Amino acid sequence: MEHLIQAAYFITILLFILGLKRMSSPATARSGITWAGVAMGLAVVVTMLWPGLHNIGLILTAIFIGVVLAWVSGRKVKMTNMPQMVAIYNGMGGGAAAAIAAVELLRGEMDGMGMIALSVGGGLIGAIAFSGSMIAFGKLQGLISGRPIFFPAQKPLNLVVLIVALLFGASLLDGEAATTLILLFFVVALVFGVLMTLPIGGADMPVVISLYNALTGMAVAFEGFAMGNAAMIVAGTVVGAAGTLLTQLMAKAMNRSLANVLFGGFGKVQSEAQGEIAGSMRTIEPEDAAIMMRYAEKVIIVTGYGMAVAQAQHKIRELSDLLESRGVKVKFAIHPVAGRMPGHMNVLLAEAGISYEHLYDLEEINAEFSNTDVSLVIGANDVVNPVARSNPSSPIYGMPILNVDQSNNALIIKRGKGTGFAGIENELFYKDNTRMLYGDAQSMVSELIQELKQV
Ligand code: NAP
Repeated sequence: MEHLIQAAYFITILLFILGLKRMSSPATARSGITWAGVAMGLAVVVTMLWPGLHNIGLILTAIFIGVVLAWVSGRKVKMTNMPQMVAIYNGMGGGAAAAIAAVELLRGEMDGMGMIALSVGGGLIGAIAFSGSMIAFGKLQGLISGRPIFFPAQKPLNLVVLIVALLFGASLLDGEAATTLILLFFVVALVFGVLMTLPIGGADMPVVISLYNALTGMAVAFEGFAMGNAAMIVAGTVVGAAGTLLTQLMAKAMNRSLANVLFGGFGKVQSEAQGEIAGSMRTIEPEDAAIMMRYAEKVIIVTGYGMAVAQAQHKIRELSDLLESRGVKVKFAIHPVAGRMPGHMNVLLAEAGISYEHLYDLEEINAEFSNTDVSLVIGANDVVNPVARSNPSSPIYGMPILNVDQSNNALIIKRGKGTGFAGIENELFYKDNTRMLYGDAQSMVSELIQELKQV
């Protein structure tokens, strides 16, 4: 029976990997998610067949509760709240890994490498991923300040807490540790996760979320190793590797190293040092903006978080189609951290049916702004803020931005004078060649469409 179960695990693993592969293209992504979901469900069913499995009633109850919670929250969550959801699900994975490690450590039946994988791998990494993700969730949900939180001697304290956690972990390796020691180990690991996440904030949140995703995967893989479970090893390794790659990509998008994100206190608000921006913001009537775009050779559209809030993507597609039907070349510029989760803009624009050939990454399009007649910025702020280039005291200094300020004209759609995620003023809005179109993204784009139809 055990051989059959292992063989079935390998089938689920294959299905899971093929599902992930299908997610690399928008055309097959939905079916990829289904494949991966079926694979995970199958792995659960196969596990239930394990000989001598106890507490089937409890397991089924837990599965039922989990499915109901995930189903309801998955259907209800708004696209703009996805990052929080991702953070909480990452945390759940890490928490589950830590809980399994706790049970196995209390049983004390393992030894050698198994104990190391369990305590340091599953326990420590899982607990850090759990409490860290919960803090990230709190920050993104606005339950605690989204800004970096600092206090005196923070770095030395973090180091001490990590060393204490490792020492506790090491003392568990003989497999005969007292329950109090095991509990202390988990408490210190959880505290470290909290302390590690508090000073991270502002524009660095995407990096930290993908890092916890990677850590959760690693914790599960370690545990799979300790428990001889191939499905956990493969699924954990795949998630760990994908999360690590994503973390690297996100850090690169912010032009920073991971160490700098974790220990640099990036995003620390230095408002005193930022200074006032000279000039004023000038508005433009939708009618004039429509004429400007109608007679442009090329328009680059930059979307951001505000587009997601307003769900303006379908109207934006209508606008883009209309401009193209009048002979205007339209391109979409995608900043890697625009919105609130990796790939946020790609997902929304693809949902509205805007083809991938129209979407350009930062590196592909940045050189084009200087020969573009009109850049239309819809609900984006931080990702087009030139202070990232010019002001070393700015919290987003060093982050690559889309060079909208270099285009001949910039039109900005936003509701008012609200700042972006980093909470700072945007120099672009005060430039001579910039005009503001105040209003909700969806209604303002609708107005532009109406005006364009009359030009
Ligand atoms: P942003 O800097 O957060 O700015 C969004 C702008 O949209 C705001 O200035 C707001 O101004 C406007 N807005 C809000 N609702 C609107 C509506 N209904 N209609 C029109 N405008 C609206 O957005 P971003 O430029 O996309 O930059 C993303 C930021 O989030 C970066 O700092 C990034 O580091 C961070 N972040 C990204 C991720 C990720 O993975 N992508 C995750 C976490 C954090 P008004 O209030 O005046 O309208």
